[in-house]
Amino acid sequence: MEGLKRPDVMMPSRGMGVVDDLIAERLPLHRLWLEADPDAWLANWGSRLRALASNGHQFPIDAGFMRRLPQLEIVASFGVGYEHIDAEWAGEHGVVVTHTPGVLDDEVADIAMALTIMTVRRLPQAERFLRAGEWAKSSFPLTASLRGRIMGILGLGRIGKAIARRAERFGLEIVYHGRRAQPDVPYRFYPSLTEMAKACDILMIAAPGGPETRRLVGAEVLGALGPDGVLINIARGTLVDEQALIEALRTGTILAAGFDVYENEPNVPAELIALDNAVLLPHVGSASVKTRRAMAECVVDNLVAWSKGKPPLTPVPETPWRGVWGR
Ligand code: NAP
Repeated sequence: MEGLKRPDVMMPSRGMGVVDDLIAERLPLHRLWLEADPDAWLANWGSRLRALASNGHQFPIDAGFMRRLPQLEIVASFGVGYEHIDAEWAGEHGVVVTHTPGVLDDEVADIAMALTIMTVRRLPQAERFLRAGEWAKSSFPLTASLRGRIMGILGLGRIGKAIARRAERFGLEIVYHGRRAQPDVPYRFYPSLTEMAKACDILMIAAPGGPETRRLVGAEVLGALGPDGVLINIARGTLVDEQALIEALRTGTILAAGFDVYENEPNVPAELIALDNAVLLPHVGSASVKTRRAMAECVVDNLVAWSKGKPPLTPVPETPWRGVWGR
C-alpha cells in the first residue's frame, strides 16, 4: 500500500506554473516536457503511473495516450472545459477525470459583461481614438446601446447563469438555448438556436467546446442574429465558424463581435484582427491571480483526495466516482 500514500503524478505539458508548483508541494511530480526523451520516459514509467495532471487544453489526453498508461486511475484537469480529454473512454475504462467547475464562474462572467459593453459601446475603439489625438478634431461617433436589448445565452450553465444575473442587473432581458429547458429558471427557453438568434440582440456563447458543439454558430445563426446583432464568445472558439463570422462582420450581416476564445489559439485570423467591429481578448476569462490559484488548488485537492483513497471532489459527469481507484 506504499504507493497509495504519495503516488507519482505526471504532467504532460507546460501550462500555468502555479499548478505544477502546488502539486509538487504535495505529491511527487514528473514534468514530461522537461524530459530529454519523453517517449523513452513514458516507455519506462507508463506501466507504473496512476495519475495525470492536465495543465491546459493544448495537449490532447486521448484514448491513445491513456492506453500507454495501463494503471491510470485519475486525470486531474486545470480548467472547467475538458474537451481535450476523452472522458467517454476514461469513463469506460475506470479512469476518473476531474475539472475545476464553480471557482471561476464569477470571474469569467465579469469578463463576459465587460466584453459585451466594450463591443456594443465600442470602448476599445474610443480609447484608440483618444490616444491617437483624434478627440481634438471631433467627437467619437455615437454607438449602439445596451438599453432595451435582449441577451440570448447559448449554454445556461454555471457561467451562463452568472452572466445572466449580471446582465439582468444591467437591464437586459434574458432568453436561453440549450439541449433542454430548465424548469427552475425564469428565462424563456428556445429549443432552436436559430430562432433564439432571431429573437435576441446579443448572442452570448457559454456552452462547452467539443465535437457536439463544433461550429454551432455559423452563417445561418449569424444571419438570424441580424444587422443590429452582437455576438460574444467567452466559451470556446470551436463553437463558431470563424470564416462565416469574418464574412458576417465584413458585410454587416451582424453589427459587431467580442471574442475571448478562438479556434486555433493563440493564432487569431489576420482578417479578424483587421476588422474594426471586432473586440478581441487573448483568452483571459479566468485569468486573474486569485482565480487561477483557486483553480490550481482545486486540481491539487482532487489529486490529494484520490491519493488518500477518498472520492475526488469534482469529477466530470462522464466519470462518476465508483469507489477506491474507480475500479
Ligand atoms: P456548464 O455548467 O456545464 O454549462 C454548460 C451549458 O451548456 C449547460 O447549460 C448545457 O445545457 C449547455 N450545453 C451543453 N451542450 C450543449 C449543446 N450541444 N448545445 C447547446 N447547449 C449545450 O459549464 P460552465 O462551467 O458554465 O462552462 C462553460 C464553458 O465555458 C466551458 O466548457 C469552457 O469551455 C468555457 N470557459 C471559458 C473560460 C474562458 O477563460 N474564456 C473560462 C472557463 C470556462 P444543457 O445540458 O441543457 O444542454
